[in-house]
Amino acid sequence: MNLILPKIDLPDLLQSWRKKFTVFLPQKLERFSHFMPLDDANAEILEQPHNTRIPPKALFLPMTEALVKFTRFGTYDDAELEVSPRIVFGMRPCDAQAVQLLDTVFEQEQYTDPFWVKRQEKTIRIGLGCHVPCANGFCTTVGYGPFSKDGLDILLTDLGDSFLVEVLSESGKTLFENLHEASEELKNQAKEIQHKAHDAMPIAFETENLKEKIEQNFKSDYWDEVSRSCLGCGVCTFLCPTCFCFDIVDEVQRQERVRNWDSCMFRIYSLEASGHNPRPSRIERTRQRLSHKYAYWLDQIGLIGCTGCGRCVSYCPVGLDIRAMLRQAQSLPFEVSHAE
Ligand code: SF4
Ligand code: SF4
Repeated sequence: MNLILPKIDLPDLLQSWRKKFTVFLPQKLERFSHFMPLDDANAEILEQPHNTRIPPKALFLPMTEALVKFTRFGTYDDAELEVSPRIVFGMRPCDAQAVQLLDTVFEQEQYTDPFWVKRQEKTIRIGLGCHVPCANGFCTTVGYGPFSKDGLDILLTDLGDSFLVEVLSESGKTLFENLHEASEELKNQAKEIQHKAHDAMPIAFETENLKEKIEQNFKSDYWDEVSRSCLGCGVCTFLCPTCFCFDIVDEVQRQERVRNWDSCMFRIYSLEASGHNPRPSRIERTRQRLSHKYAYWLDQIGLIGCTGCGRCVSYCPVGLDIRAMLRQAQSLPFEVSHAE
């Protein structure tokens, strides 16, 4: 179903949803944009840059949250999680795809994270396609796209004075029930915009045999070369929409067991209690980061674990560019292995 939403009607529509939902949408905060709850004043998303700095994964996996409450007398209880119904408006397709990838981590048959599931169940996701390519994004290189629909209930295409509203789920449909069906002309216009946006995305590197090259060159000097200027700050992983490492610590003062975001780029992340660290330097840590996204995810679920959002490129303080690193990886030696 394709509907048409005049932009002039958007602020009122967003405000009307607030009666039943908490509405998150990208808002400007200093130099960056962030997903924040809509209040009476803020309803302007259209002029925001493509991607928020902190990805919307933070709405499903907060940077810090209590899992268990305990007392000094040895009693404890699971932390209560109240989630009111929510709408996340203006998610970019790469970020929606990333949340869907993270479902495979937090919603496994055997291991299910109740907090993640509860937040997912209470959330309607409205995506906004990228009709103008973003500076450092490379979604099409990794098999996704500026108008991918995965993980979304609604996909919006910016037509200038209006949005084409593509309804992708029943829960999404209920939010737009007063809109008119789009004309064939507008539907075609939207298709053209989507195709042009897709074609405008550059191919940042070749992915063919990339996994095998990364795996076969586990001990190569390449990892030293590409990680030499890394500071180990962890920005690339904190801002990555598909990174999900966390640590669990007991905060005795707060009497809470807390889950906090963590990063494989930190020195002590893999430090073992014996004092041994299997990833003692930036070389092993960089190798882990790239191998996880471009080899291990493929083994686990058959998909690349990077949606090409470009954040790690935009925000690395020393300008390390994953696209250049992977282009260089493509020049590594490679032996074809023939399956029995
Ligand atoms: S953001 Fe750059 S410097 Fe910081 S850990 Fe990542 S690659 Fe290293
Ligand atoms: S690795 Fe970089 S480009 Fe890929 S999803 Fe993470 S932040 Fe985005």
